[in-house]
Amino acid sequence: MNSKGELLKPLTDAEKTASHVKKTIFRLDTVRKITQFCCFLLLNVAVFSLGSWPILLPIAQSPGVPHKTVGDAFSALQVMLYEHAFPWLPIASFLLTAVILGRALCGWMCPFGFIQDLSGYIKRRHTQVSMRTHEGMINVKYGILAVALFISVTLAISLVAGVGQSYESALGVFAPAPFNALSPVDTLFPILPRVVLTVVYTPEVLIAGILTDPLLWVRLAIMIATIVLAVYVSRSWCRYFCPIGAALAVFNRFSFLGLKRDPLRCTRAGCRTCVDACPMMVRILELPWEKFTDPECIYCLKCVDACPTKALKPRFP
Ligand code: SF4
Ligand code: SF4
Repeated sequence: MNSKGELLKPLTDAEKTASHVKKTIFRLDTVRKITQFCCFLLLNVAVFSLGSWPILLPIAQSPGVPHKTVGDAFSALQVMLYEHAFPWLPIASFLLTAVILGRALCGWMCPFGFIQDLSGYIKRRHTQVSMRTHEGMINVKYGILAVALFISVTLAISLVAGVGQSYESALGVFAPAPFNALSPVDTLFPILPRVVLTVVYTPEVLIAGILTDPLLWVRLAIMIATIVLAVYVSRSWCRYFCPIGAALAVFNRFSFLGLKRDPLRCTRAGCRTCVDACPMMVRILELPWEKFTDPECIYCLKCVDACPTKALKPRFP
């Protein structure tokens, strides 16, 4: 019966399928996936023959990718410190993005975030991490950020003071960009395709040079472990290990973009649909109604889609 008291006819199978397709197409998550895919293509100039843009963004985009449109602010920050230049542009990129959009680029644009989302589709039900383990593990990314910054800053200061040559040679490949030397992003995008091309076209070079490089094996092991983990635990690299996500998380709490929960619509009692849908394990139900900006939230809006009473909405500012 509808609101006018008229008897409603049951839906046919075709109508049910059409309604399901319509709901799926108009979900925010579908829009997000299309945006991620378009950004993935757009960030690599080889696809459209676009030139390189003078833009740095806080996303995991390897500097080693030969045809890219935008640069990765964290890699640029480390390299600029190594070259004794004050990294004002990467810092401005982090601050502006984080204050306006929080970690939204992680949810909608980052190529490595997209790769993790794709890996996550391999397994339908993800492994649940206990809240205690999760809260301990989220600090690991701050540790990685601190170590990378400590090495870059101390090396820059010692090189400027003219006493850093032995420190630089001790660091070896870690000197120009300490994080990138082991980053799975750098391994997946520029290094792995190069190794594959070498295997195909010049296998003798591979045996002589590449296969005997222990660093390459370490890098490949980290990359494989990261992708396998993302199959089981949604966005595991973003949650626990990414220093870019860590730097954004520091400011995410103060971002203009946020979410709000309508107290009149949210039934709360017994319903945890939004919390279960969240890939970042944000404690949505414990956050303020008016506006919440959790450090871990990547604004994927899966919780907004999932809420059966439409109580959650994005909020800006
Ligand atoms: S946290 Fe994830 S989405 Fe954000 S920059 Fe790092 S890899 Fe990309
Ligand atoms: S709180 Fe909502 S928008 Fe934020 S990460 Fe979780 S599901 Fe995505």
